[in-house]
Amino acid sequence: MKTILIHEHGGPEVLQISEIPTPEPGPGQVRVRMHASAINHLDLWIRKGIPGHPSPLPMILGSDGSGVVDKLGPGVTHFSPGDPVVISPGLSCGSCSACLSGKDHLCPDYGILGETCDGTYAQFSVVPASNLIPKPDFMTHTDSASISLVFLTAWEMLVERSGIQPGDCVLIHAAGSGIGIAAVQIACLYGATVIATAGSEPKLTKARELGAVHTVNYSTPDWVSKVREITGRNGVDIVFEHVGASTWPGSMKILGRGGRVVTCGVTTGYAVNLDLRHLFFKNLSVLGSTMGSKGSLLHIWKLIRQRKLHPVVDRVFPLSQAQEAHKHVSNRQQFGKVVLEMDL
Ligand SMILES: [Zn+2]
Repeated sequence: MKTILIHEHGGPEVLQISEIPTPEPGPGQVRVRMHASAINHLDLWIRKGIPGHPSPLPMILGSDGSGVVDKLGPGVTHFSPGDPVVISPGLSCGSCSACLSGKDHLCPDYGILGETCDGTYAQFSVVPASNLIPKPDFMTHTDSASISLVFLTAWEMLVERSGIQPGDCVLIHAAGSGIGIAAVQIACLYGATVIATAGSEPKLTKARELGAVHTVNYSTPDWVSKVREITGRNGVDIVFEHVGASTWPGSMKILGRGGRVVTCGVTTGYAVNLDLRHLFFKNLSVLGSTMGSKGSLLHIWKLIRQRKLHPVVDRVFPLSQAQEAHKHVSNRQQFGKVVLEMDL
């Protein structure tokens, strides 16, 4: 089969069209003919290489995907060839106490497709049958591929970790990112008031169209005082952080009493300061979050089917142009997800 393979870490040029043997599904596995695969920031990190976090090379990137069941491995009975399916990105052992408690993302053996094993930038992917979700008939493969990882991450951060409540005031950074468009929708669904940040006026307009009540340009030096003004000087209940060093000081400053900051990523650096006096005097909580459970993802897809959450796709590239697609994501000009369609 044809695939986009990385043989070494580096810039977009390491994404190379390659021909490799078509993988065979083992017991409990399914081979999916891929139609679309979405790009996540995780793909860029893995492509560049994360110090202290070795990836098996050569490797196929891609955690999200949508396609059609092609071949069943031994023992798989609840899917048939031809079924349209969406791929769930998280892999776990299925038998440890975390997995059996419905918290498979806390499994000691937890991994992500395209991070710890081959992913979805390929004509075919082989995944456990438990990683397949039926694709809604009304949705295209391109839209379907764009949903799972970012909505799951945003759901875990807001619903499971921060305990979002109706009436909460939530500051969502970089609302135009893949995770930002998911967070704005989930916070609105929970009846929260959303203040969204983005780096340009067109993105702020789109964030308002998505449900944000207030928007602030984070490239202006006084964005913190603007947010404070919006909240009547009370500060916000939740800050949705995934930017890191450049926004962290402001994110901590803008939290109201009892506020929670929840973070899942650091696109601008991971070393930050924390003033413990503010933490205890204001009863603040700092929460870390990565991925979420399969149960949460199934609930998200129920809401997608009910049209209460929806994908936002910025641009589609053919898989053969994966290098250009990665450059587009690196430039941070997009509003929503960038998706690769199979053309190999
Ligand atoms: Zn486990």
